[in-house]
Amino acid sequence: MKKKKFAIHWQILLALFLAVIYGMSFPNKHLVTSASCKKIENLSSEHNLSDDLLSVLENMIGNNPETENNFIKSVESYPNIKLTEDQKRAIINETKYNPPVSYISWMGIIFLKALKMVIIPLILMSIISGIANIGSAGNLGRLGLKTIIYYLTSSTAAIVAGLLLVNIIRPGIGVDRSYGGSVEIPDHTGHSLKDTLLNIIPENIFTAFTENQMLSIIFFAILFGFFITRINTKSRIFLTDLFNSGFEVMMKITMFIILFTPFGVFGLVAEKVADQSGQIMNFLGILGMYSITVLAALFFHAIIILPIFLKFIAKVDPWSHFNAMKAALLTAFSTSSSAATLSLTMESVEHKCGVSNKISGFTLPLGATINMDGTALYEAIAALFIAQAYGYDLGLTEQIIIVVTALLVSIGAAGIPMAGLFMISIILTAVDLPLAGIALILPVDRVLDMFRTSVNVWSDSCGAVIVAKSEGEKLKI
Ligand code: ASP
Repeated sequence: MKKKKFAIHWQILLALFLAVIYGMSFPNKHLVTSASCKKIENLSSEHNLSDDLLSVLENMIGNNPETENNFIKSVESYPNIKLTEDQKRAIINETKYNPPVSYISWMGIIFLKALKMVIIPLILMSIISGIANIGSAGNLGRLGLKTIIYYLTSSTAAIVAGLLLVNIIRPGIGVDRSYGGSVEIPDHTGHSLKDTLLNIIPENIFTAFTENQMLSIIFFAILFGFFITRINTKSRIFLTDLFNSGFEVMMKITMFIILFTPFGVFGLVAEKVADQSGQIMNFLGILGMYSITVLAALFFHAIIILPIFLKFIAKVDPWSHFNAMKAALLTAFSTSSSAATLSLTMESVEHKCGVSNKISGFTLPLGATINMDGTALYEAIAALFIAQAYGYDLGLTEQIIIVVTALLVSIGAAGIPMAGLFMISIILTAVDLPLAGIALILPVDRVLDMFRTSVNVWSDSCGAVIVAKSEGEKLKI
């Protein structure tokens, strides 16, 4: 009798469920030690921590571990101590004390490292072999155009859905602005569009590899693949075979790593749940309406708009496609990184949906880097939420500016956790809103990131299927 296999997505779902229970059973506590005091002291100039605060913390060395809220209350019970949201985060991060979670969090760390390890070789091999297999410049141009049209259309649809909902629900009206405190906006996030475009061409391709400059790597890989098709037959066949074989090896490594996904997900999610335990009230309470608006728009886009594209453009059953993508979507949810999920996305799109490597190898790495529907939608809602909270009434022109900048920002955001958060500063600047507004949405960003990343990956996979169908490929879904 054939043994029934427990499918990987069920394993991941089970791991997710157990991780939530584990994380909730062991919420983070906070303990001040002399080591944590030293670390906090080193952060004092970055976060404006006063000497009074540092001596209060020294006084607390040896106290019992406390929950996040009680810990902050104890610190603030000293005279003259009032912490901003940013300062709270800094001391909370450095005083984390959670032995039960640290016993298992290493699984998540190893899994994430393994996923990151394969990203660059996988992108390189898949794009080079994909393009070399496409053959002519005409084919490449046609595929490229279709892919870009899909990305622009789906992201714009997502932003419009977000804007509609945020204008209807108006979650920012009446929000207490003092609640957020101040936040440091890192300056490296404010890449203008011009910089982003100029940086696509790497000065040194090895620097691009070591610094994970995805757009540059993709650009180089496209050039390399394209010019393989322009050399003499003997070398062309040799190089095409070489990169096809390299790609197969990378996929085998990926499939091996995928076997460990349930363990990785368990470690990652349990740690995040334990981390967020103090924030749950924020998620449900003060920022509840904001979170609901973001989630409603994400779900609307993912279960209505994208399936309509699948059904009517690709003539594919959205439900079968969703079933094929479950493992990748759950991994996107758990890692909050489309780049880290890329290997699983490719595996599912090729092996479960039946899209050829020629198309998935080209569209998916590109999509993981520039196509972010969830992020685009999120940026638009966040900007409008901040405007509402500060009492600005944005007219049609400003909302159109938001649509355009949100689109550009989502293209420029990296596929890593929380990349979208600080990119909001670009939109706020474009429509003259206070950057300090970012502090308002900071507490719930990490959780919402899990959802928007899943939507990003879902849209990439829909794009690959739509382009494959339009090229006349026979799919398994
Ligand atoms: N975490 C998202 C992604 O990897 C990007 C974002 O922060 O919105 O797709």
